[in-house]
Amino acid sequence: MTEAPAGAAPAAGADLTGLTRDELAAELVAVGVPSAEARMRAGQLWHWLYFHGLTDFAGMSTIAKPLRQQLAERLHIGRPRILRRQLSADGTRKWLLAFADGNLAETVYIPEEDRGTLCVSSQVGCTLTCKFCHTGTQKLVRNLIAAEILGQFLVARDELGEWPTPTGERRLISNIVMMGMGEPLYNFEAVAKALRIVMDERGIALSRRRITLSTSGVVPMIERCGSELGVQLAISLHAVRDEVRDELVPLNRKYPIAELLAACRRYPRASNARRITFEYVMLQGVNDSEADARELVRLIRGIPAKVNLIPFNPWPGAPYRCSGPTAIERFAAIVNRAGYSSPVRTPRGRDIMAACGQLKSDSERQRRRQTAPAPA
Ligand code: SAH
Ligand code: SF4
Repeated sequence: MTEAPAGAAPAAGADLTGLTRDELAAELVAVGVPSAEARMRAGQLWHWLYFHGLTDFAGMSTIAKPLRQQLAERLHIGRPRILRRQLSADGTRKWLLAFADGNLAETVYIPEEDRGTLCVSSQVGCTLTCKFCHTGTQKLVRNLIAAEILGQFLVARDELGEWPTPTGERRLISNIVMMGMGEPLYNFEAVAKALRIVMDERGIALSRRRITLSTSGVVPMIERCGSELGVQLAISLHAVRDEVRDELVPLNRKYPIAELLAACRRYPRASNARRITFEYVMLQGVNDSEADARELVRLIRGIPAKVNLIPFNPWPGAPYRCSGPTAIERFAAIVNRAGYSSPVRTPRGRDIMAACGQLKSDSERQRRRQTAPAPA
């Protein structure tokens, strides 16, 4: 584990990370590259940025040396700064990252036998206050920009030594889940911009089938998520009655269960091969009865779906307890008998507070620590 002060070192010139090809070309023109060349040069840069993962212009051998030097003087390729690295006994890794303004977010890598999943944050904190979620207790909130969302992926690749981009199936980071801190559909433009870069075939080229966006139910944005990005959709359902969901996921008061499920039925590209995942956190005595399970099955009938049961991950001061193993098994069996796959998510990285709902970057506490006078 390493500790360092918050905030990335200021770098000269515009950051090229997270720009579209057109924006890259415009930056090149702005530093003096002739406009007739700019698109071609932007394509070359793209390859160095997103196939090779370079952060230094010096290694860009297809670009003439004087131009490389000129670019290095006027532009930079940014990364969030790693403030802390943690490694769980189960192999899960968590990075606490600092952005240029000193704000912090966490990113988690979960290695499995047949895949490796990166859990990416979309906001610093979250404006929604789901009762069972640690992130929701964090006061300081802002949207991450595309470069910061993409930057989490790039840093993880740097850390795992996964450049240049592997071809074929053997990737360390084979999947991305937008399940870190924040509500991705409250920051759709930035999330979409970052994911388009991740999916771009001339760079990282991760398939949309391997990217899952999880939402607590921002109904008006669900359609766009499907039609513009076409990624896999996960819905944080967690309750089958509005009274209970109103409590657990306060956004339900705005977009109740019936509206949410109607949006799922309309989700573009949903099919049996591309099922919608319903996430359901198991809270003892709150949402885990057999009647709840039967109602769940009734509600999602007709939607190509699977149900992911998530044992509640505790955090200091949390007002809930995880359901017992028998309750979880019974619940899973009812969902399963109705024809839906109902895996119970194995908690990963609990020992480093990296499991679902445990992330909290404490920007405010970190900031206070930074501004506090040094001890005499
Ligand atoms: N804001 C988005 C994505 C981030 S949360 C959303 O809510 O969907 C990722 C998943 O972890 C969600 O399903 C969320 O409900 C779940 N989660 C939150 N807190 C949890 C906790 N303490 N234990 C288990 N799962 C939790
Ligand atoms: Fe935000 Fe998701 Fe946590 Fe709810 S569960 S507070 S939407 S991060």
